[in-house]
Amino acid sequence: MFDFTITAKNNRARTGTFSTPHGTLQTPVFAPVGTQAAVKALTPAQVADLGASLVLSNTYHLYLRPGDDLVAELGGLHRFMRWPHPMLTDSGGFQVFSLSQTLKVDEDGVTFKSHIDGSGHRFTPEKSIRIQENLGADIIMAFDECADPNDHAYIKDAMERTHRWAERSLKAKRRADQALFGIVQGGIDLDLRAASAEFIASLDTPGIAIGGLSVGETKDEMHAMLDVVTPLLPENKPRYLMGVGTPEDIIDGIARGIDIFDCVLPTRLARHHAAFSPEGRLNMMNAIFSRDERPIDEDCDCYACKNFTRAYIRHLIVAKELLAGTLLSIHNLRALIQLVEDIRGYIADGTFDKKVPMLLKQWKNNANRGIGNSE
Ligand SMILES: [Zn+2]
Repeated sequence: MFDFTITAKNNRARTGTFSTPHGTLQTPVFAPVGTQAAVKALTPAQVADLGASLVLSNTYHLYLRPGDDLVAELGGLHRFMRWPHPMLTDSGGFQVFSLSQTLKVDEDGVTFKSHIDGSGHRFTPEKSIRIQENLGADIIMAFDECADPNDHAYIKDAMERTHRWAERSLKAKRRADQALFGIVQGGIDLDLRAASAEFIASLDTPGIAIGGLSVGETKDEMHAMLDVVTPLLPENKPRYLMGVGTPEDIIDGIARGIDIFDCVLPTRLARHHAAFSPEGRLNMMNAIFSRDERPIDEDCDCYACKNFTRAYIRHLIVAKELLAGTLLSIHNLRALIQLVEDIRGYIADGTFDKKVPMLLKQWKNNANRGIGNSE
């Protein structure tokens, strides 16, 4: 279990397989986000039909509602949401620091108020692991602190605390059927990122996550961080770049040796009537589409593009029909999953490196960075 095998390499990019109790992932892989145990507007069968193999759910949200004890009582998250394939949960750290009202961070953990009802709660590394064991995802995360990347003095303290919390998370873990990943932090400081990569790489974990990016830094800063971090990570463990998933960031990330991505962007854009396309991002509410009989993207093989016109989708949006969000979510998710599938093929035949400029050109104008990590 949790064997990672590299099947092809093209410079720093690689394809591989990662085995989990609910199936083997082909990497690189893009994971749709099911924040509250649902990928918004889609059934699990629709998500699987898109070619998605891994879904992410959020520990913070499920702990608050419906509660991890209840999920465990009902057979765990796979059974509760009827997703029989690989699943990943985050540690709750990112949401505690971004969504809730954080009251106190100390060596032991974080005290916070729920964003739903203001009730008081406390997460520690041990608590985060216990919640994630109740949820039962295949891949789980060490509890971490995602600090403001521009506060240099604080970021070092937060990183060192995250390292101690990673050791405590490992010690607290009891289930053998879950892969616990440590998380590299360190803001946008090259030395801190290098120190964090070396520390997290020294832990006995089957994979490594890189956190605290796509939180407002520039594209160049993110690339610089990845350029210092990934060469310090062991080759034989999958690398997960948390919350990052614009088309350009996926292309750039894979080129820098990343294997796993997740992002709310495709489903969030769908709810804002936007569609990925080779012409750049389309606002499907635009009146220019009212008589447009073409699909969103003539080359896309998704259910929405094979069956429906831009004119019909625009009509659904204007008429506020829920099907609009479903069709746009199907298209946007398929677009990213198809992109990653294509890239796996390019890595296998050794052409990915040469195709990076073409791919970046094709996908620019589809998404701005910094649209956020959380729904
Ligand atoms: Zn499509």
